[in-house]
Amino acid sequence: MTVAAPAASGNRVRRWVILSYGLGVDSTAVLLRRILDPSSRDFDLRDLVVLIAQTGNEWPQTARLVERFVFPLLRRYGIRTVQVARAGQSDAAGIVVLDDTRQPYVCHLGGAYTLGEKMIAVGTVPQVGGRRDCSIRFKGWVLDRWVLDTVGGLPYEHAVGFELGELSRMRIDLKASKMPGRTPFYPLIDWGWHREHAQAYIREHLDVEWIKSACTFCPFALTSEGGRERTIPRYIADPDQAMLPLLMEHLAVALNQRQGLAGGEQLVSMLAAEPGARPLLRQFARHLADQEWALYEVKRAFRKKEGEAMKMANAARSLVRVGVGGRAEMLDELAARARTLGKPVKRDGAHRRVWAHRKNMYFPCVEEMLTVAPALAPDKIGPGFDDAWEKGLRGPRQLQLVA
Ligand code: SF4
Repeated sequence: MTVAAPAASGNRVRRWVILSYGLGVDSTAVLLRRILDPSSRDFDLRDLVVLIAQTGNEWPQTARLVERFVFPLLRRYGIRTVQVARAGQSDAAGIVVLDDTRQPYVCHLGGAYTLGEKMIAVGTVPQVGGRRDCSIRFKGWVLDRWVLDTVGGLPYEHAVGFELGELSRMRIDLKASKMPGRTPFYPLIDWGWHREHAQAYIREHLDVEWIKSACTFCPFALTSEGGRERTIPRYIADPDQAMLPLLMEHLAVALNQRQGLAGGEQLVSMLAAEPGARPLLRQFARHLADQEWALYEVKRAFRKKEGEAMKMANAARSLVRVGVGGRAEMLDELAARARTLGKPVKRDGAHRRVWAHRKNMYFPCVEEMLTVAPALAPDKIGPGFDDAWEKGLRGPRQLQLVA
């Protein structure tokens, strides 16, 4: 299903040219050069569609830059600008067209169903390993869905703003694309531009330093030294923007001690090492205190990947809230359960857990614990959990690591 905003008037199309506009440095430079340098294109700007997928969690500065520098140009040249977002957790909910106009004024950063909502609902954080699932589901899928609904399988040219340092992403995009009628092209790579060239072009023409676009909780902004140097000061300067990432991480780590926003490393520890972040962390402590809390029973069953002896498949998980109330009340309940089970309450930073089973080194195996966390993730028993749990319970237990 697509919930549509009114379509831009004058959309009779001679040729479909679509630019995925990610709001960041690379695609801003592509768009700018396409507009300002007619020799950089072989199409009429009235045939161009600037297509934006809103995850709902971009930094507010991004919207301010886009509204101040890019949208006025799009209005001046009457370029069709479409903003779309995921409508719900399931693909069946479709997309929402937030705006479709040749006179864009507002960058709809709030999106519709947001990536943050999704992460909180499943009690995890975006992952750095493997495919970028968050980006695929909240950007790529949304853009493709609009194109399918609107272009309907006709030929279209699709500009993607990968820069010269992203050849591997270009190759993945070339291989992965199954969209009918799509001819992808990569202007920055064609021009031989790295990000510095893109940034310099924007600086020269708009007299502004563009910021890297990302969700406020993007793990890729926290896993490199350069990313951390850019991102930590942004949290300190605008503590409100740190509340969702910290809350998401707190919940995810409570439910799974292996989580952490920076590929397993925790944002809260990075901030604790910054003297300037103390007021922010006090604000977060108040934010946590305002939450409703739950006592969760978390079970995971681990299986090996089909056909790969040493690799683990995604764990099957059961998450059940066995109590809801204030934090102190839930911690008391945790202690009572620990006494009943004859197990200790284990401390792990801000978290408290009681382990019934710890994962061992061989598959199949299970882990089971009780933990206290904000009551934000609803009960969910994953597909195939019961079967995987049964098999895991019967798996090799001789190497139980922790009692
Ligand atoms: S910016 Fe980061 S968190 Fe947001 S969709 Fe992209 S990869 Fe995922």
